Amino acid sequence: MAAQASIAVGSQVWVEDPDEAWIDGEVLKVNGDTITVKCSNEKTVTAKASHVHAKDPEESPCGVDDMTKLAYLHEPGVLQNLKSRYDMNEIYTYTGSILIAVNPFRRLPHLYDIQMMEQYKGADFGELSPHPFAVADVAYRLMLNEGISQSILVSGESGAGKTESTKMIMRYLAYMGGKAASEGRTVEKQVLQSNPVLEAFGNAKTVRNNNSSRFGKFVEIQFDQKGRISGAAVRTYLLERSRVCQISESERNYHCFYMICAGSPEEQEKYKLGDPSTFHYLNQSNCYKIDGLDESKEYLETRKAMDIIGISSEEQEAIFRIVAAILHLGNVEFAEGDDVDSSKPKNEKSMFHLRTAAELFMCDEKALEDSLCKRIIVTRDENIVKTLDAEAAKGSRDALAKTVYSRLFDWLVTKINNSIGQDPTSKCLIGVLDIYGFESFKTNSFEQFCINLTNEKLQQHFNQHVFKMEQEEYTKEEIDWSYIEFVDNQDILDLIDKKPGGIIALLDEACMLPRSTHETFAQKLYQTFKNHKRFVKPKLSRSDFTICHYAGDVTYQTELFLDKNKDYVIAEHQALLGASGCSFVSGLFPLLSDDSSKSSKFSSIGSRFKQQLQSLLETLSSTEPHYIRCVKPNSLLKPAIFENQNVLQQLRCGGLWKQLG
Ligand code: ATP
Ligand code: MG
Repeated sequence: MAAQASIAVGSQVWVEDPDEAWIDGEVLKVNGDTITVKCSNEKTVTAKASHVHAKDPEESPCGVDDMTKLAYLHEPGVLQNLKSRYDMNEIYTYTGSILIAVNPFRRLPHLYDIQMMEQYKGADFGELSPHPFAVADVAYRLMLNEGISQSILVSGESGAGKTESTKMIMRYLAYMGGKAASEGRTVEKQVLQSNPVLEAFGNAKTVRNNNSSRFGKFVEIQFDQKGRISGAAVRTYLLERSRVCQISESERNYHCFYMICAGSPEEQEKYKLGDPSTFHYLNQSNCYKIDGLDESKEYLETRKAMDIIGISSEEQEAIFRIVAAILHLGNVEFAEGDDVDSSKPKNEKSMFHLRTAAELFMCDEKALEDSLCKRIIVTRDENIVKTLDAEAAKGSRDALAKTVYSRLFDWLVTKINNSIGQDPTSKCLIGVLDIYGFESFKTNSFEQFCINLTNEKLQQHFNQHVFKMEQEEYTKEEIDWSYIEFVDNQDILDLIDKKPGGIIALLDEACMLPRSTHETFAQKLYQTFKNHKRFVKPKLSRSDFTICHYAGDVTYQTELFLDKNKDYVIAEHQALLGASGCSFVSGLFPLLSDDSSKSSKFSSIGSRFKQQLQSLLETLSSTEPHYIRCVKPNSLLKPAIFENQNVLQQLRCGGLWKQLG
């Protein structure tokens, strides 16, 4: 398999094109290092030889189902192959054992039905068309026959289809490892029903995806000796908390808020709900509906899924009561109080929402107001009450909403794990990872920083795996893996998470020093990493920094880094809800032992996330990995549109092909 072939006058080639990425044509002239090509769009282009690639002479219009069958494995060849297959609704393609999935943005029900699962059951890998079922089947067989735990890592950018692929894999494994046709609440049913519940509370419409997962997820399915599912565990990572209070144009809050607004008339009355547009937490973005989604139906399905998981009806009632309470809380506005720098609910309407929120949280109304508008400062001699101004009270309100919501989400995850149950005797598991892909936006904050750290770690894991595979395959079958790009990213990982001295360690340090600001933090970074080749201080900026990630450069704005890294619950909020008359609510705020409740004790989100990642990678390292790379063919989220440049960018981020030229 030659990467480059000799290019002569008359040969068919690919040449770089600013719009199409690559365009085909015929060589008119070869002049040393420059080549003139008559392109298929009638343009004549002269380009450097390194920007011209030979075209597959026997290229079939339907493409090939495994990229390694291509005569030339270069970018234009790979792109053309994916495109011609996509045009024929062939959305899956292998590259060796890696599955590439291009989002069809249309339902293809036959592709995933039971007959299809039956076909893939036990079939040799590569015998049938590429499919996530084939990947799941290989993993299942390997686990069963060799007794080795497996993992399936699904990656790709937002909207590429990770969650959909993950669900198909889980369905296949549940089918293979389930108790056929048995009734009632079986483990595999519970495992599958955890998806709609987590999606209701952890997914939202964003500009990139109508059903975007705002958390990372690793589902570990445990099997017994006979290959039957015997338990499961869900680990989640970094739920986006800010969305509860703040949403951007055309986006929505978490689905559950709209569901409860579409509940039965009795519930609407009980929770004093109405149209989503009447709630501040929902009406900031001018977007309430999602095409093709019926909230009241979704609500009933979520409740049904909760039943199957084993969430009792009392618990469900409390959960949705809390969701409603958060909406009312968001409608409490503040005005200047009677004293200087104090605040109080703005008007009757705000009082009404405050009262309703207190009723639904089952806590004292006055205590709720105080926890929003006042702070108690504990000194050695006495407790001093400090009033908050209207702006600070609003911040306190939002902090409470976010804290309650994230505790609720954690409760759901714990409940799912407890209900499904773990099988301590299981020796084999299959883990499925559905986690956010590399992100680079106009502004990038702490979240992007953590997400991109995840991707660096996974990339390193991928590199190590491919390296191992390469060595094994070379000796065994002489398969050429050299097309896979190898970027050693250890230096980036050191930059971020080395202890001491990495960016996370410096951030923690800044969070603990009383006088730090994001500017002093940035200065410290500039000083420390002056000579680091992966770190750049952007010109004209006093607090941004750029990391040269394996997938490209990303500039981070440090403004909110310190705030977002601090994990604490305001003591007044803890006291308020810990005393709730509803045991579900107070249970979300258990009394901590004296030692850990000291508010001065700083707990770092960045460091905790780093540890979670470490533990995830340890789990992954003890398994045999399989990879699914999801690709989003266009940004319009529409079927049948394949944007070359866009796709290429994603393939490059995946580090799957050597960049030629
Ligand atoms: P995020 O990172 O935002 O969570 P994601 O990669 O998980 O994104 P999905 O939610 O899986 O993306 O997919 C986005 C949408 O694309 C789905 O809601 C669905 O409409 C469509 N889609 C994805 N994969 C398929 C598929 N195989 N068949 C049909 N539609 C699909
Ligand atoms: Mg998702």
